[in-house]
This record gives sequence, C-alpha cells and structure tokens, in this order.
Amino acid sequence: MISEYQNKRRFFHSIYREYICKQMSLLKLHDLYFKPYLHKDEISAIVKRLATEVKADLPKGETPLFIGILNGCFLFVADFVREFKGNCETSFVKLASYNGTSSTENVKQLLGINEDLTGRTVIILEDIIDTGNTLQEIYTIFKNRNLKELKIVTLFFKPDVYRKELPINYIGKNIEDKFIVGYGLDYNNLGRNYPAIYQLTTPPKMKNIVLFGPPGAGKGTQAEFLKEMYHLVHISTGDVFRFNIKNQTELGLLAKKYMDEGDLVPDEVTVNMLKAEVEKNTGANGFIFDGFPRTQSQAIALDEFLAEKGEQINGMIALEVPEDILITRLLERGKTSGRADDINEIKIRNRFNEYHTKTAILKDYFEAQDKYYGINGVGSISDITKRISEVFTTL
Ligand code: AMP
Repeated sequence: MISEYQNKRRFFHSIYREYICKQMSLLKLHDLYFKPYLHKDEISAIVKRLATEVKADLPKGETPLFIGILNGCFLFVADFVREFKGNCETSFVKLASYNGTSSTENVKQLLGINEDLTGRTVIILEDIIDTGNTLQEIYTIFKNRNLKELKIVTLFFKPDVYRKELPINYIGKNIEDKFIVGYGLDYNNLGRNYPAIYQLTTPPKMKNIVLFGPPGAGKGTQAEFLKEMYHLVHISTGDVFRFNIKNQTELGLLAKKYMDEGDLVPDEVTVNMLKAEVEKNTGANGFIFDGFPRTQSQAIALDEFLAEKGEQINGMIALEVPEDILITRLLERGKTSGRADDINEIKIRNRFNEYHTKTAILKDYFEAQDKYYGINGVGSISDITKRISEVFTTL
C-alpha cells in the first residue's frame, strides 16, 4: 500500500526531476561530460525567428512541405511547425551522419519520401550542418524531383568546418566547432531529451559537497575535519557574513540586521558573495559548502555557476539530528560563541522556522538528482566524521 505521504513525495519528486532537467547543470552521457551552452528559452527564440522568416519569404497562399532530417531534428521540427503560422505539410527522412563525436565522411542514404513532389516548395529542416556532407546528399536526392523550390533551414551551423558551396537559406545560430548534445542531438543515442543544448567539456576536476542540516547539526565542526582530510576549501556563508560584520564592511552592515533576527540574508546578496568566495580559490580540489545553499534559488544558482566551470555538486551530505537535541546544543554554544542568534530561544526557533520553510525542501532538490545522503548526526564527533567519510569516498 502506498501511503498518501509517499504519493505526495513521489509527486514532488516528479516535479523536481522535470524542473532539474530544465536547469543548466553539468550532464554526463556515457563516458563524457557536457556543460550548458544554450538555454531552452534562447533556443525557443531562435526557432520562432526562423519560422517567422520562412513564412515571410513564402508567396501568399503557398503550402510548403517541411521535411525534417531524422533523428536529430525531431524536437526542432515539432517546435518549428508549431511556430509556423499558416498551413504546411510535415514529413521526415532519415540520413545517418554521426557516429560518436566526430562527423563521419560517408553519409548513408535512407530516404523516406516516396510521394510525387512535382511543383512543391520543399523546405528542409536540419538540426545542425557542419561539414555539409548530409546537405550534399539532400541536394542530390531532391535534384531530380521537379520541385518548384528547395530551401534549407538549419538550427545550427558550424562555419569553421563547412566545406561545401551549397546554399543554406536560413541559419538559426552559428556555433563553434565543438560537439553539442540536447534538444534532439545525441551522443551515442543519449542526450536527445534535454530541452537545452550542452557542449562537450573536460571531466570535472573537483569534488564538491554541500554539508547540510539545521542550525546546530554540527556542519561547522565536521567541515573542519573534512577539509583537512580531503584538502578541500571550506566555505561557510555564516562565517563569511560574521567576518564582514566584524570588519564593518558594507556587506556586513547589510547582513547584520537579518542575521541578528535569525532571518535569511536575501538570495542575491548571498549568491554574489558565495561566487566571489569560490573565485578566490580557483585551483581548489573541491569545496565544502556549509550553510549554502539555503533556498531553492540558491541551489539553482550554485548548480548553474559550477556547471559554467565544468564542475558540479557531487553530493549533499545531510546531518540528521532531532530538534530537541539541536536546541540544547545551540543554547550551550551560545554561552561561549557570542552569537546573538544563539542565546535566545525565540531567535533559535525562528532559525528553525526559516530552515523548515525555505531550506528543508533542498533535500528533495538533491534527492531528485540522486545526490542526497542522510547521515545520523547524533553521536561522538569522530563517529559522525567516520560516517561522513564513508559516504564522501564513494562520491
Ligand atoms: P550559520 O552560521 O550558517 O548558522 O548562518 C547564520 C546566519 O547567517 C543565518 O541565520 C542567516 O542569517 C545568514 N546566512 C548564512 N548563510 C546564508 C545563506 N546561504 N542564505 C541566507 N542567509 C544566510
């Protein structure tokens, strides 16, 4: 029997999965890594422009026949014809030209159109044109079909490797000669289903973790051990804010009013500060993010920021501790830490409230990426370190 609770979790997981698929984080397909290159919204804008231009150039009342070159074009054609205002016919042919990541010289011919095309305006829809070998085949195939007109539309074009003189009527975007996947394009059959375009990149060099848990869970304490053991850079956003408050910087003055009340500092301020801290340590083996991300938009910002660098979060390690133990720990810490947000139970409760309403959902966010690792955070410090390292070494 599936409980209502399990059903709800499944529902949220499916939403998160879909959501994450649309985000721009690093992609691993077979043995290779790909980083974000074109967001789905940019692709939509290009497709819309192409459809508008094609329509504008057609004689009034003309019903074109759009022919997509499978497999890569299927998403492009689907979106293109929906943006095309007016009647049109749609068909597909299949010509395989890619095998792995390099363009093969011999294009195989597999035609799927048998009807009479005499007098028709045929508009070929290609996902990508690089050497032009496939295009050559297309021109050869349609040469003797007595068409009224043959036009070529390509979503992407690689000018640096194009070796033909054949005309291309509409180009969505010129791109450099790097292997791309997503939005119909594949690497050995994977990657076609992603709504964005990704570019081949080198494997990540870092191992990055998010150390997660409510206030008082022991993130700071454990981070001290982990950074020594694995030569990582520890970034605690709380510590960075406190350092800025102590030094009375502009950032410190801004953060103080939120922190003193146990409220979260606004995302934009926190994200910019976090990025600056990462940039200070470009050669690092990896980072322990402690106290960050704390909201969904911080998590997305972190994913995107790392992906641009060809890096990623390897896992979220969460310290799970019951709330009554946490409050005792925090009040105890408040006796010596001098932290305004540790000495007052109302402020501590507010921090838990912020955690439950804004931060706890990040468990689902990382779980949906298969990156959530819950650890029992009750016990001796060394036992907990051991539990964490057992997980860390598998990441
Ligand atoms: P911490 O030392 O992690 O318990 O953080 C102490 C306080 O710093 C929090 O209660 C927030 O006011 C602020 N803070 C730390 N990290 C973040 C973050 N990622 N987003 C927003 N506020 C934060």
